[in-house]
Amino acid sequence: MSERFSDSGMLKIPTHVEEVEDIPENSEKISVKEAYCPNGHSLMDNEHTFNGMPGIKMAFIRPNEEKGVFSVSSKIGDLSKKTISGEIVEGEKVTLCCPECSAHFPVLAQCDKCKNGDMVLIYLSKELDVSDSASFCNLFGCPNTMLIKSDTIIRAIARDTL
Ligand SMILES: [Zn+2]
Ligand SMILES: [Zn+2]
Repeated sequence: MSERFSDSGMLKIPTHVEEVEDIPENSEKISVKEAYCPNGHSLMDNEHTFNGMPGIKMAFIRPNEEKGVFSVSSKIGDLSKKTISGEIVEGEKVTLCCPECSAHFPVLAQCDKCKNGDMVLIYLSKELDVSDSASFCNLFGCPNTMLIKSDTIIRAIARDTL
């Protein structure tokens, strides 16, 4: 088993990156089937679906302290989302947390795409292990998303639009 923490105690982020093209044949690989908050509550949302697949439900707290809840596509790289309550403002950095217990999602690192948001983490199994997790930016509209599967980061890349 590899060390998951660096000497400074920070989470170690895998350096091996696999880019998976976002095409139907790959949808299994880049879709999340289960997702859990740090306390083990399921975040899957069967009431709000995206292309027939359940969304992932999250609560958010805006910089002005207003709260809301939304559901986002369970396919990584797909930014489709549905507002359940509150107001989503594109470009705004928010605190993301569990809609059930309000536990904040842990921050993995600063976002390397928008440089403003933080990459937060949700777990993909009940073991609540970083090595089976999904991470995404907490700035609305930033497309930075990845899956962490043991020592590999999986990113979805969009096929060039025709
Ligand atoms: Zn929870
Ligand atoms: Zn970002």
